[in-house]
Amino acid sequence: MSKIKINKLLIGTNNNGKLREIKSLLPKKIKIHSTSEFNLKSPVENGKTFKENSLIKSKYFSKKTGLLCLADDSGLEIDFLDKNPGIYSARWGGKQGDFSKAIKKVYRELNKKDGNWKNKKIKARFICALSISYLNKKIACVQGKVEGRISNEPKGKNGFGYDPIFIPYKKRQTFGQMKPSRKYKIDHRYQAFKKIRKFL
Ligand code: IMP
Repeated sequence: MSKIKINKLLIGTNNNGKLREIKSLLPKKIKIHSTSEFNLKSPVENGKTFKENSLIKSKYFSKKTGLLCLADDSGLEIDFLDKNPGIYSARWGGKQGDFSKAIKKVYRELNKKDGNWKNKKIKARFICALSISYLNKKIACVQGKVEGRISNEPKGKNGFGYDPIFIPYKKRQTFGQMKPSRKYKIDHRYQAFKKIRKFL
């Protein structure tokens, strides 16, 4: 495994929640660039797995800017919904990326499947694939996850996306109720980051 010496890195996401979290995980000596500096749209994510989509993004943003790029693809898998929304997690929020719409859809789908779902433990996990690419070349690609369950109702106003409905294993609060600093120490991005750190 070769370590790459980097002093600047583009974070390939247009999602501010992710950008904040990824920034907080990276060594301070690395100069971070964001996609907003370049006014770039996101590429079409037509991969079949989190890893494939993450590579599509890191290669695309690197080619557009000429910078080494770290990108992620992440989402929520709910076992009772056959692992949906999965790689479609962002798309469940519609074109505007409306997270409350995505959460409503989760509850709608759970109700459709079983009106008694609230009396069951609905196992779920957040997955995060992280990749680093330079132009069209893959430098690294890893995956991390955090196991948990779906809360009977949305709780908490912190974070983004599905945070208000996800209770990590052995915890009582949803990610939405936790302080961001606490979430960042256990979540899927952190688990993936621990694996990719050795490449930086
Ligand atoms: P993408 O990786 O940008 O395609 O989108 C991933 C989607 O998964 C986000 O838009 C969120 O809806 C959801 N997601 C990923 N990570 C998190 C997280 O840490 N908290 C809550 N929702 C997340």
